[in-house]
Amino acid sequence: MFLNRPTMREQNENLIIEYIANHKPSSRMEISDKIGLNKASVSEIVKNLLNRHFIEEIGSGESTVQGGRRPIMLQLNKKAGCVLSIDLGYNYIDILGCYLNGESWERKLYPFRDISRSSIVSDLKTIITDFMKHAPETVYGLTGITVAIHGMVFENAIYFTPYYDLQDLPIAEALSEHFDVPVFLENEANLLALADHACTDTLHNIISVSVHSGVGAGIILDDQLYRGEKGLSGEIGHMVVVPKGLSCPCGNHGCLEQYCSEKVLLDHYRHRTGNAEAIIPDICHAYHNGEQSAVQLIHEMIQYMAIAMNNIAMLYNPETIFINSEVSRLIPSFTDKIQQQLSSFIADKVKVRQSILGEKAILFGGAALATMNFLNISRMRLEP
Ligand SMILES: [Zn+2]
Repeated sequence: MFLNRPTMREQNENLIIEYIANHKPSSRMEISDKIGLNKASVSEIVKNLLNRHFIEEIGSGESTVQGGRRPIMLQLNKKAGCVLSIDLGYNYIDILGCYLNGESWERKLYPFRDISRSSIVSDLKTIITDFMKHAPETVYGLTGITVAIHGMVFENAIYFTPYYDLQDLPIAEALSEHFDVPVFLENEANLLALADHACTDTLHNIISVSVHSGVGAGIILDDQLYRGEKGLSGEIGHMVVVPKGLSCPCGNHGCLEQYCSEKVLLDHYRHRTGNAEAIIPDICHAYHNGEQSAVQLIHEMIQYMAIAMNNIAMLYNPETIFINSEVSRLIPSFTDKIQQQLSSFIADKVKVRQSILGEKAILFGGAALATMNFLNISRMRLEP
């Protein structure tokens, strides 16, 4: 049996693309210095990448301290190809098209959709086909699609979805065959973590917490997404925070998700105020106005979040925990208040911050995943 191992040249090529994708603009000299490959090899590989249109030259940079000719700078050719990122929400489909540098060219939201097992594949085929009619001209065309799943995903298969019935549905295979490109299914919180990670080049250990209909986390350890044995890492919504507490669809009692998801917040607020039409911005507005039921519910939510963030900090020792939710976006002090409750000397070193790309984060994480796969690199910088 022959193993399809990358050759040394392919490995060096990947290193150079990854460097250029993360440091723009860069010169041949700088690449040679930083990745430790001699100048002749760098020049040869760069020439090849230029011929294949993966990168482009963008004029002259500053000359070195010794003077001499100003170097020609290089950057990723954003128009080498494009990727699609689709967020499959429990009642919506959100689609984003990006160039290979992460810059978006179009986004379209399909709200109030019935996400049904029998029609989702044909719906996605129609939506993608329509969306691609507006795609810009690129060298390689569509190079990959990521679909964010609000549920558990393992090895490109849907393992469990609490809010729609898509378990084991071969979405990736069906779309990949139809569009003839790689299709990646990934948990939405994992994509969130990839997006937050791609917005910084100084953080190497982060946790991104998604608080929407449920609560989940994406975990980046040493710059790599940590998925766990069966892809179920980061299911912090099912961390027990109340002994013998409320029952949860997972089969346990007292799970975090039963106390501090946006869904729970809405249910309680609607029940207490009798306002069945209330939405999250209404609660946040009421909180800012000091309305007692809103203040009390948000404080309770912060309290449970702080318990969970404390536990996460103890387990993973991250540099930063990013929170992504509509509540934290509309109440800017939300993350600070969680931070203030992390009082142990271990947890108080961890920074709790608002997720960098806000409500676009899942989509940009998906774009980064498809792009990194096409370029065969493990990290890329997104410009928010
Ligand atoms: Zn549970």
